[in-house]
Amino acid sequence: MMTNDSRKPTTTDAGIPVASDEHSLSIGPDGPLVLHDHYLIEQMANFNRERIPERQPHAKGGGAFGHFEVTDDVRRYTKAAMFQLGTKTDVLIRFSTVAGERGSPDTWRDPRGFAVKFYTSEGNFDMVGNNTPIFFIRDPMKFQHFIRSQKRRADTNLRDHDMQWDFWTLSPESAHQVTWLMGDRGIPKTWRHMNGYSSHTYMWVNAQGEKFWVKYHFKTNQGIECLTQEKADQLAGTDGDYHTRDLYEAIRRGVHPSWTLYMQIMPFKEAETYRYNPFDLTKIWPHGDYPLLKVGKLTLDRNPTDYHTEVEQAAFEPNNIVPGTGVSPDKMLLARVFSYADAHRARLGVNYQQIPVNSPKVAVHSYSKDGAMRVRNVSDPVYAPNSKGGPSAFGERYPTDSTWETSGKMVRAAYTLRKDDDDFSQANTLINAVMDEGERTRLVSNVIGHIKNGVKEPVLSRVFDYWKNIDPEIGARIEKGLKGD
Ligand code: NDP
Repeated sequence: MMTNDSRKPTTTDAGIPVASDEHSLSIGPDGPLVLHDHYLIEQMANFNRERIPERQPHAKGGGAFGHFEVTDDVRRYTKAAMFQLGTKTDVLIRFSTVAGERGSPDTWRDPRGFAVKFYTSEGNFDMVGNNTPIFFIRDPMKFQHFIRSQKRRADTNLRDHDMQWDFWTLSPESAHQVTWLMGDRGIPKTWRHMNGYSSHTYMWVNAQGEKFWVKYHFKTNQGIECLTQEKADQLAGTDGDYHTRDLYEAIRRGVHPSWTLYMQIMPFKEAETYRYNPFDLTKIWPHGDYPLLKVGKLTLDRNPTDYHTEVEQAAFEPNNIVPGTGVSPDKMLLARVFSYADAHRARLGVNYQQIPVNSPKVAVHSYSKDGAMRVRNVSDPVYAPNSKGGPSAFGERYPTDSTWETSGKMVRAAYTLRKDDDDFSQANTLINAVMDEGERTRLVSNVIGHIKNGVKEPVLSRVFDYWKNIDPEIGARIEKGLKGD
């Protein structure tokens, strides 16, 4: 019998209305359950499968939607549609910590991920950046080892500062990033109050086919603000989701955070003779050499409504490069171009790009076919080349132009050193030319607090030498502070 009751009836996943949210089907009120209570079984089975593998690394994070608008004319550097004056592109952003697991506190000292997906008119463009312009290592062979050294031991399943400093001090190329991490910016006050950087060098190509090496800098319009170690420790105990909550609440209140995108642009030929290797991820390009050029504004104005489908299943990948942009000979970047898509296939399945949050907002005409969880229909012909009207590559309009020349014998070797290339001087500049005395004092105190907590010989002596190589005075202050004499 029809009633006027307008409530939404609970249904099974197949849309079939169910009789009860509270009672399983049993033989009499006190008797055993029956196997054909398919609704109970569906609820239990789904619950048992709710968690998917967390990211390794960058497991803990939060995200939001918004848009990017180009405010300045940069067409002389790139033909990419997304960077043409006045173009507005929808974006998804995900912020994260690196080493902690999915439930770990937001305020641990760590770099922050700053990953942006731009849903452009030429397919998705992803910038999978961090809140620092540099990184700990420059060769992907070391990446897996680096992350393992920051995560958990095999025996105790504990994080271990001795293990962390063992790796860092045996990897002097980490000095610049470790200095950054131990400074004020190692713990941002909120995700809204930090910058985002591509860190890597990428390429831009203009309509005439001219190429440029570029770095992306998203500068916060909220101003840089950081947490002291003490405040961060306190928050880790009282509100582990402090950054996640802050972003969500700000957007909910209509306080929309924004960042201004600036680029550093190096003419293609200059890379050959520049005093630093411009593709070394442990180095910045000094602004004095390559000033910032304003491009546009990124604004976040919409919260996700379902964390799992819109943030947990979001898949960012630096191989999502649109026409007019390209990668560079940075070895870390070249490895990430493989590794991210591989991680998504492992975590989300081969058809992860069909999950709505990852789907481009343009038509897809690929020849990918079938596989687990494929939901987008495939139509014939399923092969190319074909004479049956299937899509065909349009190389005249979309040429392979973000390229460079290279030659040489196959080797396993470090980058060739340039005139000013070394592991310590940019870290020294950060300490002495950028930080003020207050931040230097906090840097020393942060390092002492960190190594006090579990760093033993022989690693400990190497820690003092590492800091003395960066700056003799800072090294001496750290050693004195720890030994207490
Ligand atoms: P500049 O003086 O032109 O730039 C210094 C940069 O440092 C600014 O971008 C500033 O960012 C940032 N900065 C300010 N305070 C801190 C801090 N406490 N911790 C980390 N970064 C901070 O100098 P150079 O370009 O010659 O670079 C000098 C050093 O500055 C580098 O060795 C590097 O460590 C650091 N740096 C350089 C960047 C670059 O791309 N050139 C980018 C960021 C840091 P903001 O305007 O946001 O405050």
